[in-house]
Amino acid sequence: MNGYTHMVIGGLCGGLPIALSIAERKLGFNIGGHLVYPFIGALPAIIGALGPDIDMPNSKAGKRLRSFLKAAMTLSGIGVLLLSIYIGVTGARFFDVLIPCAIFFGLSCCTTLFITMAKHRRETHSGLVLLILFMPNLYMLRFAQKGLFTGVLLSLWAGFCLGWLSHLLADTFNKKGVPWLYPFSKKYFRLAGFVTGTEGERLFRNFCIVLFVVIYAAIILIRIL
Ligand SMILES: [Zn+2]
Repeated sequence: MNGYTHMVIGGLCGGLPIALSIAERKLGFNIGGHLVYPFIGALPAIIGALGPDIDMPNSKAGKRLRSFLKAAMTLSGIGVLLLSIYIGVTGARFFDVLIPCAIFFGLSCCTTLFITMAKHRRETHSGLVLLILFMPNLYMLRFAQKGLFTGVLLSLWAGFCLGWLSHLLADTFNKKGVPWLYPFSKKYFRLAGFVTGTEGERLFRNFCIVLFVVIYAAIILIRIL
């Protein structure tokens, strides 16, 4: 599926919890003592829906993330170098700045290496990567202090993960399919054979829009009636 289709389907999936919140007449849902706000998660769901295609250098997500990573690597790398020289020369104890800077540099290097080595529709389209991305939510639910800040952070990241999930589901209807169980299995799962950028994909996208509108209406009507 192309980027536009993924953004539409990501937005539609992000609309599901919103429909639920309208039906329940609640701004936020209590999950494990934290308030999660569906409205905040809608935009990250659209962004997350582009996420798995970072493995394509020419995709929207690929281009933006690569430029961001390049800037992050350069800035944090310069930061680590200058701080190390400064600490070496003056003996100042700036480790509380140097260590986070070095971790950020290491993470941006690892992510760059990962997306450069990733084959299209393989590593980033694995259910395992989605599971790893979802982990910060579980961590926050379990350990983070309850409050507005955590609630907003949870809403943003849960929305992003929902968008990422929508991408994998949408690609499952694509001709190539999705390696949900990679690296444990190299099998590509698919439910249909739509080819990216074709009339078939346009029909699939329109069908999803109608289907989701019906689901939203059903969710809201069931609660009201
Ligand atoms: Zn994809």
